[in-house]
Amino acid sequence: MIRVRAAVLRRTGAPLSIETITLGPLAPGDVLVRVRAAGLCHTDLEAIEGQLALPLPAVLGHEAAGEIAALGAGVSGLACGDRVVLSWNPHCGTCFYCEQGQPILCSQALGNAALGFHFDGAPRLFCDAGTAPPRPVHQLMYLGAFAEYCVVPAHCAVRIPPGLGFDQAALIGCGVMTGVGAATRIADLRWGASVMVIGCGAVGLSAVQGCRLAGAGHILAVDPRPARRALAARLGATATADPAAAIAEARAATAGRGADVVIEAAGVPAGFALSVEAVRPGGQVVWLGKTAVDAQVPFRWGSLMQEKRITRSSYGGARPARDFPLLAQAALDGRLDLAAMISARIGLDAIDDGFAALKRGETVRSVVMFDDAPAGKVRG
Ligand SMILES: [Zn+2]
Ligand SMILES: [Zn+2]
Repeated sequence: MIRVRAAVLRRTGAPLSIETITLGPLAPGDVLVRVRAAGLCHTDLEAIEGQLALPLPAVLGHEAAGEIAALGAGVSGLACGDRVVLSWNPHCGTCFYCEQGQPILCSQALGNAALGFHFDGAPRLFCDAGTAPPRPVHQLMYLGAFAEYCVVPAHCAVRIPPGLGFDQAALIGCGVMTGVGAATRIADLRWGASVMVIGCGAVGLSAVQGCRLAGAGHILAVDPRPARRALAARLGATATADPAAAIAEARAATAGRGADVVIEAAGVPAGFALSVEAVRPGGQVVWLGKTAVDAQVPFRWGSLMQEKRITRSSYGGARPARDFPLLAQAALDGRLDLAAMISARIGLDAIDDGFAALKRGETVRSVVMFDDAPAGKVRG
């Protein structure tokens, strides 16, 4: 067991509480990861605001990179000091969904999600030292990376090639995987295709880059904010548009048909509606964004007809062991620009300000840096 500093959500809508909590011990198959960088994602914000139900108190943070600090019994293929990106999709590998090649739907992962603990359904974090028994602390998406260390199943710590900064590597774990994966793993995106990307946050900008990597011929990035459109153009968009002009732009580029593929990454009802209006007959829509689960989203029925295919994806078809090293290498080679998506590097103490800036739309990604985390040991 070690003591670590963490940002704890104790009450929705309230600031995160920076406190020292207890972590461990490692169960067989666990690894201890010294977190070096963790990105602030909209899903964390949803948990803070209560749109995403999570038992409290809880440690958020699900987009992170760090180093292996200790191995649980039976772990092979990883060594202390390995640089890893964390996956928020633990999966058993043997259930119905895993056997279908859909680990994102793993029965164990979905079944234990509401508990908000480790993949095995048991806690690894505790607070209120001195109480007996110690009070468990929950963790978001099987990680809880807004802490100096976290304990994850070994297969959720994916080794990446050396040389990539932790700040950039962290983004691979959620936003970059989701956006690039939408273009390269989910969309049936042919070379030369016409694509529209709706929403230019971290996921949308990653989708723009994924479309470029996949050989799209026309990449129209849609966002109401001029600065975001300019950033999208820097990252590979061949055209940009305000949402009000998006359909006309997409049709003008395709002899009136509409985009072959539309990737939605805005998470607002108007964006979902725009996605199906803007895609061509027979084209494909990929929804990445989300809105409140009980929200009603209106569509014009005609916009859903004509053999359009709609695919929902929450993690860009991620197979982390396959994809994270490829994404890291693409960044190292200069084919994927991760630095451009980092708006700020902040300390854990500034995390509330970071979320306020995310909510106001001022930042693409703020990344909490843990440079001063102490070296620690866990007793098994
Ligand atoms: Zn995320
Ligand atoms: Zn499974």
